[in-house]
Amino acid sequence: MPEKDKNTQEGPDVRSNLIKVNMGGDTMFVDPDQYKPQLDHQRELKRMHRKPKNPQPQEWKTEDYSKHKIADYKPFNFVDGEGVRCSLYVSGCLFDCPGCYNLAAQNFNYGFPYTRELEDRIIKDLSQSYVQGLTLLGGEPFLNTWVCLKLINRIRKEFGHTKDIWSWSGYTWDELQKETPDKREMLSKIDILVDGRFMNDLKDLTLQFRGSSNQRIIDVPKSLEAHKVVIWDKLQK
Ligand code: SF4
Repeated sequence: MPEKDKNTQEGPDVRSNLIKVNMGGDTMFVDPDQYKPQLDHQRELKRMHRKPKNPQPQEWKTEDYSKHKIADYKPFNFVDGEGVRCSLYVSGCLFDCPGCYNLAAQNFNYGFPYTRELEDRIIKDLSQSYVQGLTLLGGEPFLNTWVCLKLINRIRKEFGHTKDIWSWSGYTWDELQKETPDKREMLSKIDILVDGRFMNDLKDLTLQFRGSSNQRIIDVPKSLEAHKVVIWDKLQK
């Protein structure tokens, strides 16, 4: 039987080769080779097969939820869109997709506050000639429009359209057309929208920049002009 933890000192969650687990509210340190967690398979299956939430138009308002917090900032990466990019992960999302790739960032209180210092750093990083643009993801960027619009407006002021702006969203294109003015303003100022919830049963890890096949990479200026969804012309799969 594992021994109940009596160590009250602060420290890492791993003691030599033992791992930390919670058993009936008690913290235990156990041998990972001998520990077999008792999973409630029915509950787990049910959890993974439920659907993401579907809000009514304008039901979720940024000002009711956003704490202007940032889950992470990753400069100079190659995975969040075309070219070298600086990625800002905002905190807070209400869609609650089963299999969400960033569970911690669903919490609006997670992370650290958006500050002028961070904004200055992002602008400095974006000024590098080899950086193609900014990516907004999360969490849900369209439930953090105060932060995103502040940054988008500054980028347009400093760089015009020489840097592109991509955003991921759990909202679909059609849903955003019926959304609050701040969300529609943000949509009108970005270049690419990757839209829609992550759907576990449509998961496909071979897709370019998306996790499930319902999601689309949308060319925003062309779509707004055509009044219909126009897919990014560099889409490979
Ligand atoms: S929309 Fe994205 S961040 Fe939000 S729950 Fe779904 S996968 Fe997670």
